[in-house]
Amino acid sequence: MPNPVKRLTIGQTPIEKFAIVLSQNPTHSEEYAATRLQTYLKKATGASLFLSQVAPEHSIFIGSAAQIDRSELKHDGFAIQTDGQNLHLAGAIDRGTIYAVNTFLEKYVGVRIYAPGVERILPSEAVEIPSCFKEVQNPVFSYRATDWITHVTDPDFAVWEKLSSSRSGILEDKGGSVSIIGGCHTFERLCPPKQYFDEHPEYYSLWEGKRIPAGNVFDVPVGQLCLSNPDVVKIVTENVLQWIEANPGCQVVDVSQNDNQHYCQCENCAAIDEEEGTPAGSLIRFVNQVAAAVAEKHPGVLVQTFAYQYTRKAPKFTKPADNVMIRLCSIEACFRHKLDHGCEHNIEQFSQHMESWSKLAKHLSIWDYTTNYECYLAPFPNLWVLRDNVRYFADNNALHVFEEDTPGTNTGEFGPMRAYLIARLLWNPYMSEEEFNYHMDDFLEGYFGPGWESLKEYLEILKKTTEDFHIRCFEPVYPISPEPFNARYDYVPFAYQDIRGEHYLTPFMSHLPRLKAMWANVLDKARDDAERERILRARMSLDYMELFCTPHIKEEMTESEQAEYEAAVAEFLEKKERFGIHTNLFTAEKWKR
Ligand SMILES: [Zn+2]
Ligand SMILES: [Zn+2]
Repeated sequence: MPNPVKRLTIGQTPIEKFAIVLSQNPTHSEEYAATRLQTYLKKATGASLFLSQVAPEHSIFIGSAAQIDRSELKHDGFAIQTDGQNLHLAGAIDRGTIYAVNTFLEKYVGVRIYAPGVERILPSEAVEIPSCFKEVQNPVFSYRATDWITHVTDPDFAVWEKLSSSRSGILEDKGGSVSIIGGCHTFERLCPPKQYFDEHPEYYSLWEGKRIPAGNVFDVPVGQLCLSNPDVVKIVTENVLQWIEANPGCQVVDVSQNDNQHYCQCENCAAIDEEEGTPAGSLIRFVNQVAAAVAEKHPGVLVQTFAYQYTRKAPKFTKPADNVMIRLCSIEACFRHKLDHGCEHNIEQFSQHMESWSKLAKHLSIWDYTTNYECYLAPFPNLWVLRDNVRYFADNNALHVFEEDTPGTNTGEFGPMRAYLIARLLWNPYMSEEEFNYHMDDFLEGYFGPGWESLKEYLEILKKTTEDFHIRCFEPVYPISPEPFNARYDYVPFAYQDIRGEHYLTPFMSHLPRLKAMWANVLDKARDDAERERILRARMSLDYMELFCTPHIKEEMTESEQAEYEAAVAEFLEKKERFGIHTNLFTAEKWKR
């Protein structure tokens, strides 16, 4: 096979003349960066560069061996720089050094990694790196997280994608990550009902006249903490301080409500919430007290709490303390339109809250949603607002962003592409529309092969036919039984299932024959089995819609139609197992009880 890059020069010197130079005591991350560079330069150009700790005439200096101006860098930013005869690749911290190498490979050499094992190197006659040039990149968000499956199971890929969250399992030898002690929904663990409820029910939510224990399960009544009780402040503070002491170097600790709406309505809590105009009133007053103790002992640590569901409206009077980070969630929003005043629904459900928290809170974190948790396989037409939304978070001073994707499964319609685009936006929220479209086309071509343009057309139909719908992240597509949670847990699609009347994909599905022809074209042009498998897996979304969300009435079908349909259903279910695909959030592996 010829080398994809025929000639690569740095300041007119051919790449073969360079060595990759590390400092005398390189860190594991610097060694990792150097090895990645060596491997991909070989794949791209055929040149085998030596790793060295002594600089020859032409060097590619990595990390602490590089001479760059580190005062220009922030978070895990980096510089790529030439000085006449050498190239310098280095970051503010080790993770940035790895990014410098990866960005050099991607942007200049033409290396593409779309998903683990799905790579290509763009062919070129000559890549010429000028002898005196400098590029500096600094991220806007220090914490960049998604939970798309390959972003949380493959640290090499997560680093390539410039994700910095500990969700991605990036260990110190690959640059490390930003972790949040406790994760989220921590009230239950910070004041455990197992320890206190029997003797002190008054520590917990008074809900509909009864004290209920704090908890995070969905099927029994569980609640929150009584935030106006001084003993609860004391217990939670002690536990938070212990968590911080057990995690030296931690930057953020989480003190946040459980995943339910049963907040305390006792007389004291209710009076505060009445005065502040929102249950976020008692929450912020409580968290500020914990944060005061943290500020005294651990001044560098931020205390994070949710503005989520019943607390998303900001208080009238109380401001979060300077070391409190508000983690605002967009769970009620419409994701077909921009969060930034894109539709009436979003003004009411999100942007007005975003803007008031942005003014009140010194540190802001966003938890955003990017799929249909009710039905993972249903197309979710949000590709065209992702860029606007991430920029909106940046404009409102967000420091952390988590784009919750499709946890615990291998699909989600166009899941790998959405995750790929999101990762790029999290690094660069001010990306131009042109650059965004470039990444989308590049992905479609690299991942799906020569028939990719049919998918562009397919997405265009999805975009047009859904324009007039408000689409939330729990948007029913198939019918839900009267016991919704149980139905969700047990749901497996089956032949002749009832279908829902109108929903956001009804107009899209009216183009079914055309949509099927587009996938058939992509499949026809596939060049190898791996490409074919990727196409079949992605097409499961349309297969699902056709088999289970369009009418199939047994009595109205001939015997041969029935046999054909039933065989297609059996094939779908077989592929669902083979590809590791789940139908919704509640049937996904990590949620199974
Ligand atoms: Zn209370
Ligand atoms: Zn809308």
